[in-house]
Amino acid sequence: MALEKNTEYDISITGTSSDGRGVGHIGGMTVFVSGAVERDTGRVLITRVKKRFAEGTLTEITAPSPHRIVPECPHFGICGGCQTANTDYSSELKSKANSASQAMRRIGGFTDFKFNKVNDGRSSRYRNKAVYKIDCTKEPICGFYFKKSHDIVPIGDCLLCDPRDSLIKAAVMKYISESGFIGIKQLFIRRGAKTGQTMAALDVSKHPPRTERLAQLIASADESVASVILNFPDGVSETLFGRDFIEDELLGIRFRISCRSFFQVNPEMTERLYSQALEYASLTGNERVLDIYCGIGTISLCSAKSAKHVTGVEIVPEAVENARENARINNIDNAVFHAESAESIVPKLIKAGERPDVVILDPPRKGSDAATLAAILDAAPKRIVYVSCDPATLARDAKILAEGGYDITAAQAFDMFPRTAHVETVVLMSKNEK
Ligand code: SAH
Repeated sequence: MALEKNTEYDISITGTSSDGRGVGHIGGMTVFVSGAVERDTGRVLITRVKKRFAEGTLTEITAPSPHRIVPECPHFGICGGCQTANTDYSSELKSKANSASQAMRRIGGFTDFKFNKVNDGRSSRYRNKAVYKIDCTKEPICGFYFKKSHDIVPIGDCLLCDPRDSLIKAAVMKYISESGFIGIKQLFIRRGAKTGQTMAALDVSKHPPRTERLAQLIASADESVASVILNFPDGVSETLFGRDFIEDELLGIRFRISCRSFFQVNPEMTERLYSQALEYASLTGNERVLDIYCGIGTISLCSAKSAKHVTGVEIVPEAVENARENARINNIDNAVFHAESAESIVPKLIKAGERPDVVILDPPRKGSDAATLAAILDAAPKRIVYVSCDPATLARDAKILAEGGYDITAAQAFDMFPRTAHVETVVLMSKNEK
């Protein structure tokens, strides 16, 4: 049956897609349904028809799924932040395990592969970071992007974030109304969970007037504020208050984090994820470790105490500066860091004779690349620990490593991003004897 765009059909939702939409079938065609929960029955309005699938929006529920809940957040369905706040949390965990496992089977070709359980933690107020968009073209507003749009939906309190963010947002909005300055585009807030230090960084189109007033409003709004920063479009930053970094602790190691550096957003799950990665690395003190995509050196420095030597590789120079400084403040002297892209530096290191016993890689969502993976295979480490925030690219890369002589010997998923469709995984690949 050919589906028609802008037409409604009856549908039963039988699954959940990797991006959190309901999945059903009409006349043999797979339909991805926004707003639907697995086991809903209702009507779908078809919005897009492709050769192999269609997309639509749920317009009516005739029989709600037993997994459906009323979202606590009034912005759910409008704001692009959460995808699964209308589903009970245990079903969310199940569908994450399913979709991540399916990616490993379908894309990676790992027959019978299964992530058994997704380790879970707090499902609200877990984020240490938020990026609020600001638009002053009409009445100034502050919030997040609408779903699939760059228009901004004003958000009061986001239930994934720290309630004190509202104080800082109000201070920024007060400054905007006092000064009439319309060049603030974005407010970034990051909080050190263990240290209680908060950074507020504003992206501005040009230099704002009376910056001392701006800094004073923000710093007095929330006493945890330890750093207020302006970021200009040309990449230059100016510190208005406090230092140009905040600190946090993970697994007993202190980290300085600048605003341009990556830092995991869910501190509780991060410690559990890193502990798992370290367990998979099985370090005894004699190993050389290569930590690719190392950010501010978090996994590198957590491994350094149980390794002979650690080399970290990271593309963002500010993050590498943080990593070197973090080694110093923690008295770690067996870790070196390279500020260069993985695809450029990893092949060079291996060619120059670097022979890691253990490779840890934690790439961004797009995964690793052919040059880096080929160099890892050339180095022939005993173990590869792959930390991933996207099961599809993990599956693609793990397939290449498997073809190069590695077997998946352990795997675990972590719910680093509750109420969203995202899931974090860590996979151990061990060199086989073949
Ligand atoms: N392991 C770190 C960072 C993981 S996020 C942690 O857990 O905190 C992925 C990191 O890869 C980011 O810091 C990003 O800046 C970096 N990155 C992205 N593309 C890269 C590339 N091509 N080469 C090296 N690093 C890259």
